[in-house]
Amino acid sequence: MNASVEPSPEAIAARQREVVQALTTVLPPHCLLYRDEDTAPYECDGLAAYRQLPLAVVLPETELQVRRVLQTCHRLDVPVVPRGAGTGLSGGAMPLRDGIVLSLARLNKIINIDPYARTATLQPGVRNLAISEAAAPYGLYYAPDPSSQIACTIGGNVAENAGGVHCLKYGLTVHNVLRVRAITMEGDLVEFGSLGPDCAGLDLLAVLIGSEGMFAVVTEVTVRLLPKPQMAQVIMASFDDVVKGGAAAAAIIAVGIVPAGLDMMDQLATHAVEEFVQAGYDLKAQAILLCESDGTPDEVADEIERMTAVLHAHGATRIQISRSETERLKFWSGHKNAFAAAGRISPDYYCMDGTVPRRAIGPLLARIAEMEKQYGLRCMNVFHAGDGNMRSLILFDGNDPDEWRRAEAFGAQMLETCVGLDGTITGEHGVGIEKTDAMCVQFCAEERDALLAVKRAFDPPGLLNPGKDIPTRARCAEYGKMRGHQGLLPHPELPRR
Ligand SMILES: Cc1cc2nc3c(=O)[nH]c(=O)nc-3n(C[C@H](O)[C@H](O)[C@H](O)COP(=O)(O)OP(=O)(O)OC[C@H]3O[C@@H](n4cnc5c(N)ncnc54)[C@H](O)[C@@H]3O)c2cc1C
Repeated sequence: MNASVEPSPEAIAARQREVVQALTTVLPPHCLLYRDEDTAPYECDGLAAYRQLPLAVVLPETELQVRRVLQTCHRLDVPVVPRGAGTGLSGGAMPLRDGIVLSLARLNKIINIDPYARTATLQPGVRNLAISEAAAPYGLYYAPDPSSQIACTIGGNVAENAGGVHCLKYGLTVHNVLRVRAITMEGDLVEFGSLGPDCAGLDLLAVLIGSEGMFAVVTEVTVRLLPKPQMAQVIMASFDDVVKGGAAAAAIIAVGIVPAGLDMMDQLATHAVEEFVQAGYDLKAQAILLCESDGTPDEVADEIERMTAVLHAHGATRIQISRSETERLKFWSGHKNAFAAAGRISPDYYCMDGTVPRRAIGPLLARIAEMEKQYGLRCMNVFHAGDGNMRSLILFDGNDPDEWRRAEAFGAQMLETCVGLDGTITGEHGVGIEKTDAMCVQFCAEERDALLAVKRAFDPPGLLNPGKDIPTRARCAEYGKMRGHQGLLPHPELPRR
Protein backbone atom coordinates (compact mmCIF):
# COMPACT_ATOMS: atom_id res chain seq x y z
CA MET A 1 0.00 0.00 0.00
CA ASN A 2 1.17 3.52 -0.73
CA ALA A 3 1.91 5.16 2.63
CA SER A 4 0.76 8.59 1.45
CA VAL A 5 -2.70 7.37 0.30
CA GLU A 6 -4.87 6.06 3.12
CA PRO A 7 -6.65 2.87 1.97
CA SER A 8 -10.42 2.92 2.43
CA PRO A 9 -11.96 0.78 5.20
CA GLU A 10 -13.54 -1.35 2.44
CA ALA A 11 -10.15 -1.93 0.81
CA ILE A 12 -8.64 -2.96 4.18
CA ALA A 13 -11.55 -5.32 4.90
CA ALA A 14 -11.22 -6.93 1.46
CA ARG A 15 -7.47 -7.37 1.90
CA GLN A 16 -8.03 -8.84 5.36
CA ARG A 17 -10.47 -11.40 3.97
CA GLU A 18 -7.98 -12.41 1.28
CA VAL A 19 -5.06 -12.76 3.75
CA VAL A 20 -7.08 -14.60 6.41
CA GLN A 21 -8.46 -17.02 3.85
CA ALA A 22 -4.96 -17.84 2.61
CA LEU A 23 -3.65 -18.30 6.16
CA THR A 24 -6.45 -20.70 7.08
CA THR A 25 -4.98 -23.12 4.54
CA VAL A 26 -1.67 -23.32 6.45
CA LEU A 27 -2.78 -22.92 10.09
CA PRO A 28 -5.41 -24.54 12.30
CA PRO A 29 -8.20 -22.10 13.27
CA HIS A 30 -7.03 -21.65 16.88
CA CYS A 31 -3.69 -20.28 15.58
CA LEU A 32 -5.25 -17.38 13.69
CA LEU A 33 -6.82 -14.20 15.12
CA TYR A 34 -8.39 -11.49 12.98
CA ARG A 35 -11.36 -9.95 14.83
CA ASP A 36 -10.51 -6.54 16.32
CA GLU A 37 -11.28 -7.68 19.87
CA ASP A 38 -8.84 -10.60 19.43
CA THR A 39 -6.02 -8.66 17.76
CA ALA A 40 -6.28 -5.64 20.13
CA PRO A 41 -3.86 -7.12 22.72
CA TYR A 42 -1.20 -7.07 19.98
CA GLU A 43 -1.74 -3.47 18.86
CA CYS A 44 1.41 -2.22 20.58
CA ASP A 45 4.51 -3.37 22.43
CA GLY A 46 6.13 -1.69 25.46
CA LEU A 47 6.08 1.62 23.55
CA ALA A 48 2.37 1.99 24.15
CA ALA A 49 2.17 5.54 22.79
CA TYR A 50 1.89 4.04 19.29
CA ARG A 51 -0.84 1.56 18.44
CA GLN A 52 -2.08 -0.12 15.30
CA LEU A 53 -4.36 -3.09 14.66
CA PRO A 54 -2.91 -5.58 12.15
CA LEU A 55 -4.85 -7.48 9.49
CA ALA A 56 -4.35 -10.65 11.55
CA VAL A 57 -2.24 -12.26 14.28
CA VAL A 58 -0.86 -15.75 13.72
CA LEU A 59 0.33 -17.98 16.56
CA PRO A 60 2.07 -20.96 14.94
CA GLU A 61 2.93 -23.99 17.06
CA THR A 62 5.62 -25.53 14.85
CA GLU A 63 8.57 -24.34 12.81
CA LEU A 64 6.88 -25.76 9.72
CA GLN A 65 3.84 -23.55 10.32
CA VAL A 66 6.12 -20.51 10.65
CA ARG A 67 7.64 -21.39 7.33
CA ARG A 68 4.26 -21.78 5.63
CA VAL A 69 3.00 -18.51 7.04
CA LEU A 70 6.05 -16.72 5.64
CA GLN A 71 5.70 -18.39 2.25
CA THR A 72 2.03 -17.41 2.13
CA CYS A 73 2.74 -13.81 3.07
CA HIS A 74 5.57 -13.66 0.55
CA ARG A 75 3.25 -14.88 -2.20
CA LEU A 76 0.56 -12.34 -1.27
CA ASP A 77 3.03 -9.50 -0.65
CA VAL A 78 1.94 -9.10 2.99
CA PRO A 79 4.32 -7.43 5.51
CA VAL A 80 5.14 -9.56 8.58
CA VAL A 81 5.98 -8.26 12.06
CA PRO A 82 7.56 -10.94 14.26
CA ARG A 83 6.72 -10.75 17.96
CA GLY A 84 8.00 -12.40 21.13
CA ALA A 85 6.53 -11.20 24.43
CA GLY A 86 5.99 -7.63 23.21
CA THR A 87 8.14 -6.08 25.96
CA GLY A 88 10.25 -4.13 23.47
CA LEU A 89 10.39 -0.43 24.26
CA SER A 90 11.03 0.97 20.80
CA GLY A 91 7.98 -0.22 18.86
CA GLY A 92 9.84 -3.02 17.04
CA ALA A 93 6.86 -5.37 17.35
CA MET A 94 4.24 -2.72 16.63
CA PRO A 95 1.90 -4.02 13.91
CA LEU A 96 1.48 -2.54 10.45
CA ARG A 97 -2.01 -1.82 9.19
CA ASP A 98 -1.48 -3.79 5.99
CA GLY A 99 0.50 -6.58 7.65
CA ILE A 100 0.21 -9.50 10.02
CA VAL A 101 1.81 -10.09 13.43
CA LEU A 102 3.70 -13.38 13.65
CA SER A 103 3.77 -14.29 17.34
CA LEU A 104 6.41 -16.86 18.35
CA ALA A 105 4.95 -17.15 21.87
CA ARG A 106 3.69 -20.72 21.40
CA LEU A 107 7.10 -21.99 20.29
CA ASN A 108 8.20 -22.07 23.92
CA LYS A 109 9.92 -25.41 24.49
CA ILE A 110 13.34 -25.89 26.00
CA ILE A 111 14.66 -28.38 23.47
CA ASN A 112 17.79 -29.43 25.31
CA ILE A 113 20.09 -28.50 28.19
CA ASP A 114 23.56 -29.99 27.73
CA PRO A 115 25.47 -29.62 31.01
CA TYR A 116 28.67 -31.07 29.49
CA ALA A 117 28.80 -28.66 26.56
CA ARG A 118 27.21 -26.01 28.83
CA THR A 119 24.63 -25.07 26.24
CA ALA A 120 20.86 -24.77 26.03
CA THR A 121 18.87 -25.12 22.82
CA LEU A 122 15.57 -23.28 22.88
CA GLN A 123 12.56 -22.42 20.83
CA PRO A 124 12.26 -18.63 20.34
CA GLY A 125 9.32 -18.14 22.72
CA VAL A 126 11.19 -19.43 25.79
CA ARG A 127 11.37 -16.69 28.43
CA ASN A 128 14.82 -15.42 29.35
CA LEU A 129 14.45 -16.29 33.06
CA ALA A 130 13.15 -19.78 32.24
CA ILE A 131 16.57 -20.62 30.74
CA SER A 132 18.40 -20.00 34.02
CA GLU A 133 15.66 -21.77 35.96
CA ALA A 134 16.04 -24.86 33.77
CA ALA A 135 19.86 -24.72 33.97
CA ALA A 136 19.96 -24.20 37.77
CA PRO A 137 19.91 -27.92 38.70
CA TYR A 138 23.23 -28.25 36.82
CA GLY A 139 24.80 -25.28 38.63
CA LEU A 140 24.58 -23.26 35.39
CA TYR A 141 22.79 -20.09 34.26
CA TYR A 142 22.29 -17.84 31.23
CA ALA A 143 24.12 -14.57 31.87
CA PRO A 144 22.32 -11.83 29.84
CA ASP A 145 19.63 -10.63 32.22
CA PRO A 146 17.40 -7.82 30.93
CA SER A 147 15.23 -6.30 33.67
CA SER A 148 12.26 -7.70 31.72
CA GLN A 149 13.67 -11.24 31.96
CA ILE A 150 10.61 -12.64 33.69
CA ALA A 151 8.60 -12.01 30.49
CA CYS A 152 10.80 -11.35 27.45
CA THR A 153 11.69 -14.19 25.08
CA ILE A 154 15.02 -15.43 23.80
CA GLY A 155 13.81 -14.73 20.23
CA GLY A 156 13.16 -11.10 21.18
CA ASN A 157 16.52 -10.97 22.99
CA VAL A 158 18.31 -12.16 19.85
CA ALA A 159 16.40 -9.66 17.70
CA GLU A 160 17.26 -6.78 20.06
CA ASN A 161 20.71 -7.97 21.21
CA ALA A 162 19.37 -7.56 24.74
CA GLY A 163 21.60 -6.68 27.66
CA GLY A 164 21.29 -6.41 31.42
CA VAL A 165 23.09 -5.73 34.66
CA HIS A 166 25.57 -8.60 34.24
CA CYS A 167 26.44 -7.90 30.61
CA LEU A 168 29.33 -5.60 31.55
CA LYS A 169 31.29 -8.64 32.72
CA TYR A 170 29.66 -11.48 30.78
CA GLY A 171 28.69 -9.85 27.49
CA LEU A 172 25.45 -9.06 25.67
CA THR A 173 23.21 -11.56 23.86
CA VAL A 174 25.59 -11.48 20.89
CA HIS A 175 28.42 -12.80 23.11
CA ASN A 176 26.31 -15.63 24.57
CA VAL A 177 24.55 -17.09 21.52
CA LEU A 178 26.29 -19.83 19.56
CA ARG A 179 23.82 -20.78 16.88
CA VAL A 180 20.47 -19.60 15.50
CA ARG A 181 18.04 -21.27 13.13
CA ALA A 182 15.88 -18.80 11.28
CA ILE A 183 13.48 -18.63 8.34
CA THR A 184 13.71 -15.96 5.69
CA MET A 185 10.73 -14.10 4.24
CA GLU A 186 10.88 -16.44 1.25
CA GLY A 187 10.53 -19.43 3.58
CA ASP A 188 14.13 -20.68 3.45
CA LEU A 189 15.54 -22.26 6.60
CA VAL A 190 19.01 -20.90 7.40
CA GLU A 191 21.45 -21.72 10.21
CA PHE A 192 23.74 -19.03 11.54
CA GLY A 193 26.80 -19.72 13.72
CA SER A 194 27.80 -23.17 15.00
CA LEU A 195 28.28 -25.11 18.21
CA GLY A 196 32.04 -24.72 17.84
CA PRO A 197 34.05 -21.67 18.82
CA ASP A 198 34.04 -20.38 15.23
CA CYS A 199 32.39 -21.24 11.94
CA ALA A 200 33.41 -21.06 8.31
CA GLY A 201 32.60 -18.01 6.23
CA LEU A 202 31.38 -14.59 7.24
CA ASP A 203 30.07 -14.08 10.78
CA LEU A 204 26.44 -13.60 9.78
CA LEU A 205 25.28 -14.65 13.26
CA ALA A 206 26.50 -11.33 14.61
CA VAL A 207 24.71 -9.55 11.76
CA LEU A 208 21.44 -11.34 12.56
CA ILE A 209 21.65 -10.57 16.28
CA GLY A 210 20.17 -7.13 16.82
CA SER A 211 18.45 -7.03 13.42
CA GLU A 212 15.06 -6.32 15.05
CA GLY A 213 13.03 -8.88 13.13
CA MET A 214 13.96 -7.37 9.77
CA PHE A 215 16.24 -10.08 8.37
CA ALA A 216 14.71 -13.45 9.31
CA VAL A 217 12.37 -15.05 11.84
CA VAL A 218 14.28 -16.83 14.61
CA THR A 219 12.94 -20.34 15.28
CA GLU A 220 15.68 -21.90 17.43
CA VAL A 221 18.53 -20.55 19.53
CA THR A 222 21.49 -22.30 21.17
CA VAL A 223 22.99 -20.28 24.01
CA ARG A 224 26.08 -20.64 26.13
CA LEU A 225 25.51 -21.40 29.83
CA LEU A 226 27.94 -20.35 32.55
CA PRO A 227 28.70 -21.91 35.94
CA LYS A 228 26.96 -20.00 38.73
CA PRO A 229 29.54 -17.94 40.65
CA GLN A 230 30.12 -19.21 44.21
CA MET A 231 28.98 -15.95 45.68
CA ALA A 232 28.22 -12.30 44.94
CA GLN A 233 28.24 -9.13 46.98
CA VAL A 234 27.19 -5.60 46.10
CA ILE A 235 28.35 -2.20 47.33
CA MET A 236 25.75 0.53 47.55
CA ALA A 237 27.53 3.91 47.46
CA SER A 238 25.88 7.32 47.92
CA PHE A 239 26.97 10.53 46.20
CA ASP A 240 25.90 14.11 46.78
CA ASP A 241 26.23 14.84 43.08
CA VAL A 242 25.26 12.72 40.03
CA VAL A 243 28.31 13.85 38.08
CA LYS A 244 30.57 12.58 40.90
CA GLY A 245 28.73 9.24 40.82
CA GLY A 246 29.31 8.95 37.07
CA ALA A 247 32.99 9.77 37.51
CA ALA A 248 33.34 7.12 40.24
CA ALA A 249 31.82 4.48 37.94
CA ALA A 250 34.33 5.37 35.23
CA ALA A 251 37.17 5.27 37.77
CA ILE A 252 36.35 1.70 38.88
CA ILE A 253 36.80 0.43 35.32
CA ALA A 254 39.85 2.63 34.83
CA VAL A 255 41.71 0.90 37.66
CA GLY A 256 41.24 -2.43 35.89
CA ILE A 257 38.21 -3.89 37.68
CA VAL A 258 35.33 -5.30 35.63
CA PRO A 259 32.48 -5.53 38.16
CA ALA A 260 29.72 -8.09 37.71
CA GLY A 261 27.34 -5.12 37.71
CA LEU A 262 27.84 -1.35 37.88
CA ASP A 263 24.61 0.60 37.82
CA MET A 264 23.38 3.97 38.99
CA MET A 265 20.10 5.55 40.09
CA ASP A 266 19.48 9.24 40.57
CA GLN A 267 17.52 10.74 43.46
CA LEU A 268 14.19 10.87 41.65
CA ALA A 269 14.56 7.13 40.98
CA THR A 270 15.50 6.16 44.56
CA HIS A 271 12.59 8.19 45.93
CA ALA A 272 10.19 6.53 43.47
CA VAL A 273 11.32 2.98 44.25
CA GLU A 274 12.08 3.13 47.98
CA GLU A 275 8.47 3.20 49.12
CA PHE A 276 7.79 0.33 46.74
CA VAL A 277 10.72 -2.01 47.53
CA GLN A 278 12.04 -0.71 50.89
CA ALA A 279 15.65 -1.47 50.01
CA GLY A 280 17.05 1.11 52.43
CA TYR A 281 18.27 3.56 49.76
CA ASP A 282 19.91 6.73 51.02
CA LEU A 283 17.19 9.22 50.11
CA LYS A 284 19.42 12.22 50.75
CA ALA A 285 21.91 11.07 48.09
CA GLN A 286 21.72 12.68 44.66
CA ALA A 287 22.87 9.37 43.17
CA ILE A 288 23.34 5.77 44.28
CA LEU A 289 25.91 3.52 42.65
CA LEU A 290 25.55 -0.28 42.87
CA CYS A 291 28.83 -2.13 42.29
CA GLU A 292 28.69 -5.93 42.29
CA SER A 293 31.48 -8.45 42.56
CA ASP A 294 31.12 -12.20 42.01
CA GLY A 295 33.44 -15.21 42.13
CA THR A 296 35.11 -17.16 44.94
CA PRO A 297 34.96 -15.67 48.46
CA ASP A 298 38.60 -14.52 48.17
CA GLU A 299 38.08 -12.89 44.77
CA VAL A 300 34.97 -11.11 45.98
CA ALA A 301 36.60 -9.88 49.21
CA ASP A 302 39.57 -8.48 47.26
CA GLU A 303 37.43 -6.77 44.60
CA ILE A 304 35.01 -5.28 47.14
CA GLU A 305 37.97 -3.79 49.04
CA ARG A 306 39.49 -2.28 45.90
CA MET A 307 36.16 -0.86 44.69
CA THR A 308 35.43 0.62 48.13
CA ALA A 309 38.77 2.45 48.03
CA VAL A 310 37.99 3.90 44.58
CA LEU A 311 34.51 4.98 45.67
CA HIS A 312 35.86 6.73 48.78
CA ALA A 313 38.52 8.45 46.70
CA HIS A 314 35.82 9.76 44.35
CA GLY A 315 33.65 11.31 47.03
CA ALA A 316 31.22 8.59 48.14
CA THR A 317 29.34 9.96 51.16
CA ARG A 318 28.07 6.61 52.43
CA ILE A 319 28.96 2.99 51.65
CA GLN A 320 26.98 -0.14 52.52
CA ILE A 321 28.07 -3.65 51.56
CA SER A 322 25.47 -6.42 51.31
CA ARG A 323 25.84 -8.97 54.13
CA SER A 324 23.65 -11.72 52.72
CA GLU A 325 22.14 -12.87 49.43
CA THR A 326 18.77 -11.49 50.54
CA GLU A 327 20.29 -8.10 51.17
CA ARG A 328 22.15 -8.15 47.83
CA LEU A 329 18.89 -8.81 45.98
CA LYS A 330 17.18 -6.08 48.02
CA PHE A 331 19.83 -3.53 46.98
CA TRP A 332 19.17 -4.43 43.34
CA SER A 333 15.40 -4.62 43.68
CA GLY A 334 14.86 -0.89 43.21
CA HIS A 335 16.87 -0.93 40.04
CA LYS A 336 14.96 -3.90 38.66
CA ASN A 337 11.61 -2.29 39.58
CA ALA A 338 12.34 1.25 38.50
CA PHE A 339 10.01 1.15 35.50
CA ALA A 340 7.10 -0.05 37.62
CA ALA A 341 7.91 2.57 40.25
CA ALA A 342 7.86 5.33 37.62
CA GLY A 343 4.17 4.50 37.20
CA ARG A 344 3.64 5.49 40.83
CA ILE A 345 4.84 9.05 40.32
CA SER A 346 3.73 9.76 36.75
CA PRO A 347 0.85 8.68 34.49
CA ASP A 348 3.30 7.86 31.68
CA TYR A 349 7.00 7.60 31.01
CA TYR A 350 9.08 7.64 27.85
CA CYS A 351 12.20 5.50 28.13
CA MET A 352 15.39 6.51 26.32
CA ASP A 353 18.42 4.23 26.18
CA GLY A 354 21.18 6.26 24.59
CA THR A 355 24.74 5.22 25.38
CA VAL A 356 27.85 7.32 25.92
CA PRO A 357 31.47 6.55 26.73
CA ARG A 358 31.85 6.31 30.53
CA ARG A 359 33.82 9.56 30.68
CA ALA A 360 30.76 11.36 29.25
CA ILE A 361 28.20 10.11 31.83
CA GLY A 362 28.65 13.20 34.02
CA PRO A 363 28.34 15.72 31.15
CA LEU A 364 25.29 13.88 29.78
CA LEU A 365 23.55 13.94 33.18
CA ALA A 366 24.27 17.66 33.46
CA ARG A 367 22.73 18.21 30.00
CA ILE A 368 19.67 16.12 30.93
CA ALA A 369 19.16 18.34 33.99
CA GLU A 370 19.16 21.40 31.71
CA MET A 371 16.70 19.71 29.33
CA GLU A 372 14.33 19.01 32.24
CA LYS A 373 14.06 22.78 32.70
CA GLN A 374 13.89 23.46 28.96
CA TYR A 375 10.98 21.07 28.38
CA GLY A 376 9.33 21.46 31.79
CA LEU A 377 9.38 17.69 32.40
CA ARG A 378 11.04 15.51 35.04
CA CYS A 379 13.45 12.77 34.06
CA MET A 380 14.34 9.74 36.18
CA ASN A 381 17.74 8.21 35.42
CA VAL A 382 18.41 4.52 36.09
CA PHE A 383 21.29 3.20 34.11
CA HIS A 384 24.09 0.75 33.45
CA ALA A 385 26.90 3.11 34.43
CA GLY A 386 29.53 0.48 33.65
CA ASP A 387 28.81 0.55 29.94
CA GLY A 388 27.48 4.10 29.77
CA ASN A 389 23.98 2.91 28.88
CA MET A 390 21.35 5.39 30.08
CA ARG A 391 17.78 4.35 30.80
CA SER A 392 16.29 7.78 31.26
CA LEU A 393 12.57 7.81 31.92
CA ILE A 394 10.99 11.09 30.84
CA LEU A 395 7.84 11.52 32.93
CA PHE A 396 4.76 12.97 31.25
CA ASP A 397 0.99 12.76 31.09
CA GLY A 398 -0.20 11.14 27.87
CA ASN A 399 -3.60 12.80 28.24
CA ASP A 400 -1.93 16.11 27.55
CA PRO A 401 -0.85 16.19 23.87
CA ASP A 402 1.55 19.04 24.57
CA GLU A 403 3.34 17.04 27.28
CA TRP A 404 3.73 14.10 24.89
CA ARG A 405 5.08 16.42 22.19
CA ARG A 406 7.60 17.85 24.66
CA ALA A 407 8.53 14.37 25.87
CA GLU A 408 9.24 13.27 22.29
CA ALA A 409 11.32 16.38 21.61
CA PHE A 410 13.18 15.91 24.94
CA GLY A 411 13.95 12.30 23.98
CA ALA A 412 15.13 13.26 20.50
CA GLN A 413 17.43 15.93 21.91
CA MET A 414 18.80 13.50 24.49
CA LEU A 415 19.73 11.01 21.78
CA GLU A 416 21.34 13.74 19.68
CA THR A 417 23.33 14.75 22.75
CA CYS A 418 24.52 11.14 23.15
CA VAL A 419 25.73 11.11 19.53
CA GLY A 420 27.44 14.47 20.13
CA LEU A 421 29.28 12.93 23.09
CA ASP A 422 30.62 10.10 20.84
CA GLY A 423 27.84 7.75 21.95
CA THR A 424 24.97 5.96 20.27
CA ILE A 425 21.19 6.32 20.09
CA THR A 426 20.55 2.91 21.61
CA GLY A 427 22.27 0.57 24.02
CA GLU A 428 19.76 -2.26 24.42
CA HIS A 429 16.26 -1.31 23.43
CA GLY A 430 16.73 -1.10 19.69
CA VAL A 431 15.61 1.45 17.12
CA GLY A 432 12.16 0.16 16.13
CA ILE A 433 9.86 3.00 15.15
CA GLU A 434 10.89 5.12 18.09
CA LYS A 435 14.40 6.01 17.04
CA THR A 436 14.14 5.81 13.25
CA ASP A 437 14.60 9.57 12.99
CA ALA A 438 17.56 9.45 15.37
CA MET A 439 19.23 7.05 12.90
CA CYS A 440 19.44 10.06 10.56
CA VAL A 441 21.62 11.73 13.19
CA GLN A 442 23.73 8.67 14.00
CA PHE A 443 24.52 7.59 10.42
CA CYS A 444 25.30 9.49 7.23
CA ALA A 445 23.36 8.76 4.02
CA GLU A 446 26.01 6.36 2.68
CA GLU A 447 26.07 4.38 5.93
CA ARG A 448 22.27 4.09 5.93
CA ASP A 449 22.35 2.97 2.29
CA ALA A 450 24.80 0.23 3.28
CA LEU A 451 22.48 -0.91 6.10
CA LEU A 452 19.53 -0.98 3.68
CA ALA A 453 21.63 -3.05 1.24
CA VAL A 454 22.24 -5.64 4.00
CA LYS A 455 18.50 -5.65 4.74
CA ARG A 456 17.79 -6.27 1.03
CA ALA A 457 20.31 -9.13 0.93
CA PHE A 458 18.38 -10.95 3.68
CA ASP A 459 14.88 -9.83 2.68
CA PRO A 460 14.76 -8.87 -1.04
CA PRO A 461 10.99 -8.16 -1.09
CA GLY A 462 11.31 -5.93 2.00
CA LEU A 463 8.37 -7.54 3.77
CA LEU A 464 9.93 -8.39 7.16
CA ASN A 465 9.17 -5.65 9.67
CA PRO A 466 9.36 -2.89 7.02
CA GLY A 467 9.55 0.77 8.01
CA LYS A 468 11.40 -0.02 11.23
CA ASP A 469 14.97 0.75 12.16
CA ILE A 470 16.59 2.05 8.94
CA PRO A 471 15.19 5.30 7.55
CA THR A 472 15.21 6.08 3.85
CA ARG A 473 17.08 9.09 2.46
CA ALA A 474 13.73 10.84 1.87
CA ARG A 475 12.69 10.39 5.49
CA CYS A 476 15.97 11.77 6.77
CA ALA A 477 15.71 14.73 4.42
CA GLU A 478 12.23 15.42 5.78
CA TYR A 479 13.48 15.00 9.35
CA GLY A 480 16.34 17.42 8.70
CA LYS A 481 13.84 20.02 7.48
CA MET A 482 11.50 19.40 10.40
CA ARG A 483 14.13 19.78 13.10
CA GLY A 484 13.41 23.12 14.64
CA HIS A 485 15.06 25.24 17.22
CA GLN A 486 16.29 23.41 20.38
CA GLY A 487 14.71 20.12 19.45
CA LEU A 488 11.14 21.45 19.22
CA LEU A 489 9.43 20.44 16.01
CA PRO A 490 7.60 23.00 13.92
CA HIS A 491 3.94 22.20 13.19
CA PRO A 492 3.55 19.65 15.99
CA GLU A 493 -0.06 19.11 14.89
CA LEU A 494 1.11 17.28 11.73
CA PRO A 495 1.40 13.49 11.88
CA ARG A 496 5.04 12.36 11.73
CA ARG A 497 4.74 8.68 10.86
C1 LIG B 1 10.24 -3.13 32.25
C2 LIG B 1 11.16 -3.39 31.10
C3 LIG B 1 12.52 -3.50 31.33
C4 LIG B 1 13.39 -3.77 30.28
N1 LIG B 1 14.72 -3.92 30.55
C5 LIG B 1 15.56 -4.25 29.56
C6 LIG B 1 16.93 -4.46 29.84
O1 LIG B 1 17.39 -4.40 30.97
N2 LIG B 1 17.73 -4.78 28.80
C7 LIG B 1 17.26 -4.90 27.52
O2 LIG B 1 18.04 -5.20 26.62
N3 LIG B 1 15.96 -4.68 27.24
C8 LIG B 1 15.10 -4.38 28.21
N4 LIG B 1 13.78 -4.18 27.92
C9 LIG B 1 13.32 -4.24 26.52
C10 LIG B 1 12.83 -5.63 26.05
O3 LIG B 1 12.41 -6.42 27.14
C11 LIG B 1 13.92 -6.36 25.26
O4 LIG B 1 14.20 -5.65 24.07
C12 LIG B 1 13.57 -7.80 24.88
O5 LIG B 1 14.67 -8.38 24.22
C13 LIG B 1 12.34 -7.92 23.99
O6 LIG B 1 11.93 -9.27 23.96
P1 LIG B 1 10.43 -9.66 23.56
O7 LIG B 1 10.32 -11.13 23.55
O8 LIG B 1 9.46 -8.96 24.42
O9 LIG B 1 10.38 -9.12 22.06
P2 LIG B 1 9.28 -8.21 21.36
O10 LIG B 1 9.11 -6.94 22.09
O11 LIG B 1 8.08 -9.00 21.08
O12 LIG B 1 10.03 -7.91 19.98
C14 LIG B 1 11.20 -7.12 19.96
C15 LIG B 1 11.78 -7.13 18.54
O13 LIG B 1 12.21 -8.43 18.23
C16 LIG B 1 11.58 -8.93 17.06
N5 LIG B 1 11.36 -10.35 17.32
C17 LIG B 1 10.76 -10.92 18.39
N6 LIG B 1 10.82 -12.25 18.29
C18 LIG B 1 11.45 -12.53 17.13
C19 LIG B 1 11.82 -13.74 16.46
N7 LIG B 1 11.55 -14.93 16.98
N8 LIG B 1 12.47 -13.64 15.28
C20 LIG B 1 12.76 -12.44 14.74
N9 LIG B 1 12.44 -11.28 15.32
C21 LIG B 1 11.80 -11.33 16.51
C22 LIG B 1 10.32 -8.09 16.91
O14 LIG B 1 9.93 -7.97 15.56
C23 LIG B 1 10.78 -6.75 17.47
O15 LIG B 1 11.44 -6.02 16.47
C24 LIG B 1 12.88 -3.89 28.96
C25 LIG B 1 11.52 -3.77 28.72
C26 LIG B 1 10.67 -3.53 29.78
C27 LIG B 1 9.19 -3.41 29.50
